[in-house]
Amino acid sequence: MSLKFWKVAVEAPIQNLLTYIQPDNLKIEIGSVVKVPLGKRKVLGLVIDTDLSTQENLKYELKQIEEIVFPDIVFDSKFIDWLNWISNYYIHPIGEVFSLCLPSLDKRGKSRKKSATDLGDRQYKKYQLTNKQKEIFTQIYNVSQTFQTHLVHGITGSGKTEIYLDLFEEICIKQNKSGLFLVPEISLTPQLLARFISRFSDQVGIFHSQLTDRERTEEWWKFYKLEKKILIGARSALFIPNPNLSLIIVDEEHETSFKQDEKLKYHARDSAIVLAKKLNIPIVLGSATPSLESWNNAISGKYQLYSLNERANQQSLPEVSVIDLRRREKGKNFQTSESGQIIPDWCSKDLFSQLKTNYEKGYQSALFINRRGMSQVTLCEGCGYSEDCPNCDVSLTLHAKSYLVCHYCDYHKNFVSECPSCKIGELKNVGIGTELIEQDLKRLFPDARVLRVDRDEIQSREAMENFVRSVEDHQVDIIIGTQMIAKGLDFPKLTLVGIILADLGLNIPDFRASERTLHLLQQVAGRAGRHKNEDLVKSLVVIQTYNPDHVAIQMASKHNYIDFANLELQDRKDLSYPPFGKILNIKFQGLSIDKVKEAANNAKKILLKLCSNQSSDIEILGPAPAPLAKIKNNHRYHILLKSKNSSNLNKAYRHLMLQKNWVQSGVKVVPDIDPVNLL
Ligand code: ADP
Ligand code: ZN
Repeated sequence: MSLKFWKVAVEAPIQNLLTYIQPDNLKIEIGSVVKVPLGKRKVLGLVIDTDLSTQENLKYELKQIEEIVFPDIVFDSKFIDWLNWISNYYIHPIGEVFSLCLPSLDKRGKSRKKSATDLGDRQYKKYQLTNKQKEIFTQIYNVSQTFQTHLVHGITGSGKTEIYLDLFEEICIKQNKSGLFLVPEISLTPQLLARFISRFSDQVGIFHSQLTDRERTEEWWKFYKLEKKILIGARSALFIPNPNLSLIIVDEEHETSFKQDEKLKYHARDSAIVLAKKLNIPIVLGSATPSLESWNNAISGKYQLYSLNERANQQSLPEVSVIDLRRREKGKNFQTSESGQIIPDWCSKDLFSQLKTNYEKGYQSALFINRRGMSQVTLCEGCGYSEDCPNCDVSLTLHAKSYLVCHYCDYHKNFVSECPSCKIGELKNVGIGTELIEQDLKRLFPDARVLRVDRDEIQSREAMENFVRSVEDHQVDIIIGTQMIAKGLDFPKLTLVGIILADLGLNIPDFRASERTLHLLQQVAGRAGRHKNEDLVKSLVVIQTYNPDHVAIQMASKHNYIDFANLELQDRKDLSYPPFGKILNIKFQGLSIDKVKEAANNAKKILLKLCSNQSSDIEILGPAPAPLAKIKNNHRYHILLKSKNSSNLNKAYRHLMLQKNWVQSGVKVVPDIDPVNLL
């Protein structure tokens, strides 16, 4: 009998497939999950292909497959194709991509699963779709046997989720198939989970990184075995090799958290589209503010575009008022209201009086501050010394007036008000953050119930649910929060939203800064006035800014995504930025700045030579220190490559990796294709 050879993707940082011999007693096929020897270890592997080229006489050098690990799991060849695509496109070892596909634990065990959300006992009405919703549903449903990317552009509250629910019901539940609902951050959307559970009860599974291994394993198997037909998942759910998958919906498709920033740097939305194509199933992307990549694909006809321009319950979008902070009197840190109260610097008189009125009428308000923009500094008023992290290139943030924290490496130190540099001046916290605003609010509205929502206060799903509940039960009058309150929340009595400083995201050195600002402003604004109220209180959004004429702020204030997108696309085109060109960010990191610089410079030389040889369209930017030039003591340099075509970038990087002796040990070089975070 002739020997049979298999090519196996092994769980190890190896680029190539390895060949193993089939033992007589095992029934191996393409897609089997096996255990194989690798050096002295035994590792898991995925059988990718037969190997016809290996000669019989090599048999003494090759090892045998040891066992089949999950007899129940056989990867579909189309799914294997997709894994290959991921590995090639994102330049990541195939075996490591495969390792994301398995359940966390070897065995299914009993898991005492906490319910996915404590809000899961609520009942939500199933609505009769409006004509417009029905039309979109029908158009997608009618072609649901084949691959197509559908983009649903619908303003906040326009009824997109209701369409998703019907699609899952008709395409998956009723036909005994599986459906995947990808959401950016599950823990932030308890109300959305509750709605799915109310509609589909125990047919819905939840999959994300905050589950225990046991819970994840259980959810994995239930989805794989059709015991639960719908899975609401974070990006990692995409890797479950479900043989019955027949619909993928990506909610808030513009969200940057769909891109993984470490290890395998894949974009879950883009990868989901490729998976849908390989499986020949439909994929629906939804957003009130689509990414410019998706928008461009839609207007150029590559995606099917659907629009919902009105809220499903006929509520109008809130009125938006833009407050120009530049015109405020240059007072000494405070101003006074009509009633003689001292209003702090972060609050315009307009916002203050709206807050007051809204509170007095018995309605809820939310204030939003985007702290991510490195906005806070603790500096000496005397000499200008600032407290920076010793490990990272960022300033420390003051907490509870007692200690300073680095938000990148968690470095802590006690806060002493005397300046360590000049010993005369006093250290002051300049800039604003949620804590400071919370204190001011409590002083301005001593009777109001103020609640702060940020990563310091809300660290678990339960805490998030308690927050949701307390707002719903009207135990809160004013919320002050970060990005955590921007998405998905739906509170009937919330009629005023104040954006404390819209500019924080605009100054980030990233070509997507204005797109992100628009996304965020529209999302936050969308929290206001989602329901009719008996007092006919009009909902209002107040945007405070130093850049009132900025296009992102102007268009957000008019709820005008489309004009924004078209203007911004023009700029991108002029500079060949995505979606008109592809970019690859090559990152260099290491403890020695000299070695990092040298590696980056060597890489540039190699790339320059490559690009001058061919009729190459690659543009090379850098090397330059990354905007965050040091994190956790690692120095960081970037080279940015631009081209019309991602395969050119891919080839250039592979060429670079084939060269020898240009990187000293201690320097890490990593490719980031289609980067989303350029810091
Ligand atoms: P989106 O996902 O676009 O933000 P939702 O599906 O959450 O919108 O709908 C917004 C609100 O309108 C929800 O409270 C929802 O229950 C309600 N709604 C949705 N569709 C309808 C409909 N056909 N008739 C009445 N109300 C609806
Ligand atoms: Zn730090």
